[in-house]
Amino acid sequence: MRVLFCSSEVVPFAKTGGLADVSSALPDELRSQGVQCDVVMPLYRSVKKSGIALEHIADISFLSGQGISQGRIFSHGPTYFIENDLYFNRDGYYSYQGRDFPDNLERFAFFSRACVELATILEGVDLIHCNDWQTALIPAYLHALGLTDFSTCYTIHNLAYQGVFESALWPMLFLPYELFHPDIMEFYGHINVMKAGIVFADMVTTVSPSYAAEIQTPEFGMGLDGLLRAVSFKLAGIVNGIDIRVWDPLHDGHIAQAFSIDDLSGKAACKRDLQERFSLEKSSGPLLALIGRMVDQKGIDLVVSAMDEIISLGAQVVVLGTGDRRHEQDLLSLSAGHAGRLGVIVGFDESLAHVIEAGADFFLMPSRFEPCGLNQMISMRYGTIPIVTCVGGLKDTVTALGEGDNPTGVRVKRPTVADLLAAVRRACDLYQDPKGSLSATRGNAMRKDVSWRHSAIQYYNLYAKMINFRERRR
Ligand code: ADP
Repeated sequence: MRVLFCSSEVVPFAKTGGLADVSSALPDELRSQGVQCDVVMPLYRSVKKSGIALEHIADISFLSGQGISQGRIFSHGPTYFIENDLYFNRDGYYSYQGRDFPDNLERFAFFSRACVELATILEGVDLIHCNDWQTALIPAYLHALGLTDFSTCYTIHNLAYQGVFESALWPMLFLPYELFHPDIMEFYGHINVMKAGIVFADMVTTVSPSYAAEIQTPEFGMGLDGLLRAVSFKLAGIVNGIDIRVWDPLHDGHIAQAFSIDDLSGKAACKRDLQERFSLEKSSGPLLALIGRMVDQKGIDLVVSAMDEIISLGAQVVVLGTGDRRHEQDLLSLSAGHAGRLGVIVGFDESLAHVIEAGADFFLMPSRFEPCGLNQMISMRYGTIPIVTCVGGLKDTVTALGEGDNPTGVRVKRPTVADLLAAVRRACDLYQDPKGSLSATRGNAMRKDVSWRHSAIQYYNLYAKMINFRERRR
């Protein structure tokens, strides 16, 4: 089985969020299960600057954007890179200094069209796996070009980012006008790129079973719930995993001291290290952490509103993230008033993320919606107990205290300040519980299988079904 996995970000080459982790770990796991899985992404400036060895594969040229667009394809191991300096040789992947690039539609239409070229150049590709709006045009191009040999799987990693653009930009897609129709890619007078993936792919997946159900409701469907209900026959939810080699407290070069479920003494050393890095006081109280994009989805505003009271409970808090200026500013001002108890770093720092996961006692994730979420799984692996709402992947991956056997986390009933505070109080009680419930919960969390193994098998079975179906139709 040969699969071409198309993504706009892939670890270790480019990352803004969970998609990059998935685009590296899932293909890796599929390879270990015998699939020939190649990955393709844009050749961004950061990749060029990294100096990795690139082998030239082909020159490409097709109608896209302003007319005939040209590019080159390179490879580095099983990863392919699409070069077009006009589109990708700049600082930032989708935006710069908080502003989306105005030519994003043109950039990712080019990338998607180039992925189709690559699929035809490589020998024996059975299936193209597309991810998020940036590669959602691929099934539409296959349809328009009459390329019927490839099966397609389209994965929605976050329905909040649909790739919606002005209708005046349609000509640069070089797609037939009849596709600009409410049943296909039109969306309230605009172009909706994600709809192309949903309509034309053989199979649509999202990153947890609960999110697959939620997005078919008006509350979580972001205007696409009707379409998603209509394609429910080809919609499935497969929960993400994490790369357990990258996230392994026993072999993690970023953290102060290794630890494991059998010997947690290293975790105490990691906590002291974390306190020092954020200039926190030496304290034996609980240390809460938050890493992530500073956006409303993640409930950052709830954390901001609850912060004074969280600190007054005797907890310390560390935050690492970037995103909306408003949330960044609010957190930075709070930290000025809680020196020694609250540490905030605005930025993206992979290594520091490891330090935080290893050193914290609890991880805050009061998301309003969460397609899957990786941080709660990373946290569990490091014995850091996640405090999570009951949505999407958080519901599917965390068994909360009082909700079942072998609890691994604490539930925030609803995304409100009151419920967040109630959950933090519960976490503080757990931390102080003389009966040792903290270490029992920690043990459950660390024993939980958060690897890609089971989910990669599910993808494999899905791919096999689609390929089989296409072959029988020939
Ligand atoms: P999302 O994809 O919605 O951003 P996920 O929880 O699925 O959220 O994945 C986020 C990934 O990005 C995790 O690996 C997390 O550690 C990482 N991450 C997010 N923000 C930062 C940051 N500021 N610094 C380092 N890593 C970050």
